[in-house]
Parts: sequence; C-alpha cells; structure tokens
Amino acid sequence: MKCKHCDMEYGAGSHFCQSCGRMTAEGEMGLAMSEFAAAMKHLAKEATRMGKVSLQNVEPELKTAIQRVSRAGSKMAVAAKPAGQKAIIATAKAMKLAAHAAEKVAKELNKAARSQ
Ligand SMILES: [Zn+2]
Repeated sequence: MKCKHCDMEYGAGSHFCQSCGRMTAEGEMGLAMSEFAAAMKHLAKEATRMGKVSLQNVEPELKTAIQRVSRAGSKMAVAAKPAGQKAIIATAKAMKLAAHAAEKVAKELNKAARSQ
C-alpha cells in the first residue's frame, strides 16, 4: 500500500504511515467502520426504546457513517496495489450493502415508531 500523503510504501494493515505519521486509507477505513458500529449500536438502543423516542435522530448519524465508509472504501481501493484491489473492493461493496441494509432497518423502525 502507498501513503496518499507522502507516496511511501507502508505495511498492509498499518493505520498510520511510518514515514509521515499520517493516517493511511486503511486507518480511515477502520475509523469509519468503528463509527458505523457506534451508529449501529445507537440504532439498536433506540430500537429498544421504540415508541418512546423517535428514531429520526439516528438516521443522520447512520448516513454520515455510510458516506464515510464508502469514501474510505474508494480511497483504499486507490491506495491498494492491483493484487489487493479485488479483496478491498469486495470488502467496500459488502460494507455498502450492510450500510444500506442498516439504513432500510432504520427507516422501517422510524415508520413503525411514527405509526404507534
Ligand atoms: Zn506517509
């Protein structure tokens, strides 16, 4: 993998560049994924309180997480060598699918909460 800031090679799985110390595309992906996980946790928490609290406040958070995941995914695909590119693109695609599924769930829950 090549650092997008200084163009130096860094070891696969490194979240920070050993040369310039800035966050790598993989680091950004990791961050986006933990944000996504946090949004999912929030969604689950809100879902358990359904009927009392509207789920509308979860959707913007989820959307931000989805955008970050897909942006980080494209950055990773660019940074990766051709050999690793297929796996990264597949991962990014799976994350996108998961994010869209989560968005659908959030919308459905919102609808259910509103109709109560
Ligand atoms: Zn660097």
